[in-house]
Amino acid sequence: MSIVQNTMIALARSASVSRFMRSAGARSALATRFVSGADVEAALSMATRLVERHGIRASLFYLGEYVVERAAIEFNVNRVLAAIDALGRARLDVHVSIDPTAIGFMEDDAFGTANATLIAQRAACQPSPSGARNSVMLDMEDLSILDRTCRLHASLQANGLPVALTLQGQRRRTLDDLSKLVHQPTSVRLVKGAFPESTAYDYQGRAGIDRGYLDAAHLMLSPNARDAGFYPAFGTHDDRLALSIIDYAKRHGWAPEQFEFEMLYGVRITWQLKLRQMGYQVRVYLPFGNDWWPYAVRRVGENPRNAWLLARSYAGGGYGID
Ligand code: FAD
Repeated sequence: MSIVQNTMIALARSASVSRFMRSAGARSALATRFVSGADVEAALSMATRLVERHGIRASLFYLGEYVVERAAIEFNVNRVLAAIDALGRARLDVHVSIDPTAIGFMEDDAFGTANATLIAQRAACQPSPSGARNSVMLDMEDLSILDRTCRLHASLQANGLPVALTLQGQRRRTLDDLSKLVHQPTSVRLVKGAFPESTAYDYQGRAGIDRGYLDAAHLMLSPNARDAGFYPAFGTHDDRLALSIIDYAKRHGWAPEQFEFEMLYGVRITWQLKLRQMGYQVRVYLPFGNDWWPYAVRRVGENPRNAWLLARSYAGGGYGID
């Protein structure tokens, strides 16, 4: 992992910097670039614009991670429920992403599972426009919560709820985790991974991580997966990987509507539009809320060219999201 990425992860986890940025830097260039707005209305309006103008769907994400206070957890859950209701009322496909550590898993697994069930039940009972897939996507956080997130997915899936799971291509165990899932009518979002570990757990270096990612992608695009109704989602901005996946999918008989690419709001927009023009499905991960700092600063770690946005945030400049 690069020094820049390490530094940004440390900044993201610093409670004092986070507090400072939320107050002093609420009107921030960094937030404006990567976050759709402070509330459900802002996120809904952006989701509507994206689908109407560009045919790009959204997965709404209420910002907040590693939350320990019960009141804050309940607030987070209510924001997610409000987002689901708003998507349903607007007749958009109901797709939200949730971090287990934001909805109770920092306190108690039973509490977290109950909240996740409530969210998935709410998503299940919304109308679904044609061609859309209502889904609650479980984000994957650090290694300490990987097993519990997989168990949560299994339990919601067993109860017939619309749930999907994010897996990280850089983890050595991902192929094993995937091989249990590709025979089920569920969905996995494959990402490279934002929580790197040592070589005992993770492939290292660009070539190693790309190899891990593509091996997992090929498993997700296997004939057995298609026959089982498995739905692959590839969460990457890496055009080399995406083109390789497109080629593999074509050669193995997958139609463009049988899988999708997902990218973060504000990242590689030209590439998002290009994929749409090529006839592929694109979804953006669309964050909203006030707790934008840890999320946005990690984007600087992924691409140091975003550091100019960080500099403008510290200077108090920018366009503001409130
Ligand atoms: P990279 O090799 O990092 O990037 C490919 C190209 O895109 C490069 O040109 C690069 O400069 C550009 N790029 C990448 N990121 C940025 C950026 N922020 N700003 C500008 N340009 C950029 N990780 C998890 O660990 N758990 C999750 O649940 C999770 N969910 C995700 C959901 C979605 C929809 C996406 C797209 C990513 C998610 N991630 C998650 C993050 C992911 O693991 C990677 O850290 C991140 O996507 C960068 O990897 P990449 O595949 O885009 O490839």
